[in-house]
Amino acid sequence: MDEHLLEVRHLKKYFRTGKNQVQKAVDDVSFYVRKGETLGIVGESGCGKTTCGRTCMGIYEATEGEVLYKGMRVGSLRGKEKRRFTKEVQMIFQDPYASLDPRMKVGDIIAEGMLAHNMAGNGRECMEKVEELLAAVGLSGGHRDRYVHEFSGGQRQRIGIARSLAVEPELIVCDEPISALDVSVQAQIVNLLMTLQEERGLTYMFIAHDLSMVRYISDRVAVMYLGKIVEIAPSGLLYNNPKHPYTRALLSAVPIPDPKAQAERKRFSLRGERTSPANPGSGCRFCGRCDEATDICAQEEPMLREVEKGHFAACHLYKEESASAGPDNGQAGAKGGNAG
Ligand code: SF4
Repeated sequence: MDEHLLEVRHLKKYFRTGKNQVQKAVDDVSFYVRKGETLGIVGESGCGKTTCGRTCMGIYEATEGEVLYKGMRVGSLRGKEKRRFTKEVQMIFQDPYASLDPRMKVGDIIAEGMLAHNMAGNGRECMEKVEELLAAVGLSGGHRDRYVHEFSGGQRQRIGIARSLAVEPELIVCDEPISALDVSVQAQIVNLLMTLQEERGLTYMFIAHDLSMVRYISDRVAVMYLGKIVEIAPSGLLYNNPKHPYTRALLSAVPIPDPKAQAERKRFSLRGERTSPANPGSGCRFCGRCDEATDICAQEEPMLREVEKGHFAACHLYKEESASAGPDNGQAGAKGGNAG
């Protein structure tokens, strides 16, 4: 479980939004994704999590830094290597309806990738594979001759998953795959993704703003705020002992099913307005909203530090766990970056 399928090093993605204005959507983040694990990436909308996922996929070109897939620089892939990358790394989108061609039958949508990568064999073999994939995502073979508009939101997301599975990927970037679905359907899709991961040895980057579902599916979770990773840790550590004030505020808004525990829970509020990503200032980006801010917070940007084993947070409240454990931690990132 220790092979790094994906390594992101000091990644920046800036968008020009006006003559002299730049939006720093992703601003120096470093992390890795181990083969076979799920890395959850959470944060409010506009925090840069989707941009980060899309830059990892090569959809956006990085402004600075690099994304390595199996050690290969994603931005420089050409020819055979690029084809291999586009086959092995797939994406599942938030809005399955917008990402599936309404004029195509479901069977053709699923077969499209297999045909493009010469994985389909003859027509009959291809349709057998399509039926297998439909069964794997909980649909029936008969669904292959129908059109997308005939399906519910959850079924459409199952079709989207079948389409990405068709090319036998290794890494799937799931970009808010459940946020457009009803809560009961969300759990079904998350369970399906977990089953498929176990059966097929898949690796996921799971981008979401719903912290409760992310906990359920993720081995590790990274919390993003205004283009930065502010905390990253194994799920259990992050949810049971959140370090960053922003993570604590996000978690305290997640309802607990036990009414007694819910009533006794300490609430952390998010006050003030979010800083503009175009002009985040020199200190901590969370400073204007943080109840625990001190003088240094407005002056100095906190670096991501290991505050307990395997648990990194970017906050002046914490000191390094040990001299040997920096953001690098022998994995990714270096001075000035985020890691985990
Ligand atoms: Fe709050 Fe300061 Fe920590 Fe930023 S560095 S999260 S302002 S305590």
